[in-house]
Amino acid sequence: MSDLYLKIVNTPVGKTAAQSLGLPAPVPLKRLKRVDQPFLEGDVLIGAAAGGKAIATLGGIVGASAATLHHASGVDSLKDSSRAGNKAKALELNQDLSLRLSALVFDATGIKSPDDLRALYDFFHPTIKKLGGNARVLVIGQDPATCRKAPQAAAQRALEGFVRSVGKEIGKKGSTANLLWMAPGAEKQLNSSVRFFLSVRSAYVSGQVVRIAKGTEAPTSNPVAPLTGKVALVTGASRGIGASIARTLARDGATVVGLDIPPAMEELRKVTDGIKGKALACDITDKAAPKLIADYLEEHFKGVDLVIHNAGITRDKTLGNMPEHFWDMTIAVNLSAEELIDEELMNRELLHGNGRIVCISSISGIAGNFGQTNYSTAKSGVIGYVEAMARHAKNGITINAVAPGFIETQMTAAMPITIREAGRRMNSLSQGGQPIDVAETIAWYCNPASNGVNGNIVRVCGQSLIGR
Ligand code: NAD
Repeated sequence: MSDLYLKIVNTPVGKTAAQSLGLPAPVPLKRLKRVDQPFLEGDVLIGAAAGGKAIATLGGIVGASAATLHHASGVDSLKDSSRAGNKAKALELNQDLSLRLSALVFDATGIKSPDDLRALYDFFHPTIKKLGGNARVLVIGQDPATCRKAPQAAAQRALEGFVRSVGKEIGKKGSTANLLWMAPGAEKQLNSSVRFFLSVRSAYVSGQVVRIAKGTEAPTSNPVAPLTGKVALVTGASRGIGASIARTLARDGATVVGLDIPPAMEELRKVTDGIKGKALACDITDKAAPKLIADYLEEHFKGVDLVIHNAGITRDKTLGNMPEHFWDMTIAVNLSAEELIDEELMNRELLHGNGRIVCISSISGIAGNFGQTNYSTAKSGVIGYVEAMARHAKNGITINAVAPGFIETQMTAAMPITIREAGRRMNSLSQGGQPIDVAETIAWYCNPASNGVNGNIVRVCGQSLIGR
């Protein structure tokens, strides 16, 4: 689907008109061009508060890709001198008029009290204006749930407000800001998440907070095709976000079973044939669907590694005007069916160890939406389901959700124009996302190295003004 305003506003005449009328001027977002392109290009500044535990790991991950890596504080000098070190380095870079940074990365795990929050100001204040367009801000903190003392928990929680506000300030240049809350000792689990949030793959993900737990040792995988050898089930794969998920997981090496309702078979086959996958005709709300899917996966692949519950429908009406089948269908497709499919796969032990389940919620499930009591109920239920399942996950299996905001698909193209235009612009990046933005987020969850990422709900919404 195309966003005409985004195109017009990026012509010289359109830019001037938008400026003089005070209209939003969204910047085209950079997305992946080649799977083997470096995850980060350009100059990066990395810093840490005193006592930061992630800085060495961050230096290793980021240093391997960045053109020039500026350390605001050396790993060895992290004790008393690091705050002064941060400040001095940040001020020195501030003097360099030609410098354009592609990312600012800050290890805030050492922050133990509200006073220590000053390290954020010292690091970011002189450098934030040095960020170019489509840049990244990434802060690593310690999960407040793991902080023993209240001042430390308060200061770590404060990072959320900081990052979300930074996201709102830099979004107009197409840049994003995100926060990773790490559990103590989870440094080894940071790799795939740092790479995702610093890369163009997370173009439409901003203002998000991700919890990273200490997992088992991450298995080494092919960096260009990390899903090699994995079998993925993608429901609703004939079009829109589902088709993009299927293609992206296949790009990353997975063998994909695309599933959709029987009338969508022709479209589905176009997708699966293009990625050497399989097409499975099934209405997931049929009573027989869980068994049919499980039988198919058992017979052809002896099970499955990645289960992506993407199929979804809307049947909008205000509550008083809503026919009962609108309610029933929406809950069945968006919520009940996925629970029943997972139950069957788990009971028959068909979901392999280190497997992944990814569900699709929605910002409607977070904030509610006019005319969508049925859909919002179902999508909130998805969040509850993911959180509950994540607590009991075993064998390295993780379960997470994405909550898309406004994504350019046939579903959103069917909206009335005024609602569609509002949906597109009401976020920090002033534009809608693309199906690939949701698909890339799912590919990050599915990466074998994301084994510490469990029970998260990440919004792919350009930091929508709606909801948290
Ligand atoms: P879409 O309508 O373009 O595609 C949905 C797919 O699901 C279709 O191929 C459809 O045939 C399939 N499907 C529907 N009912 C099914 C059933 N009973 N059994 C099997 N397949 C079925 O939608 P989309 O915009 O690509 O959305 C994909 C997912 O993302 C949905 O879960 C949706 O709720 C969610 N989402 C989308 C947006 C957005 O802005 N597009 C925003 C938030 C959430």
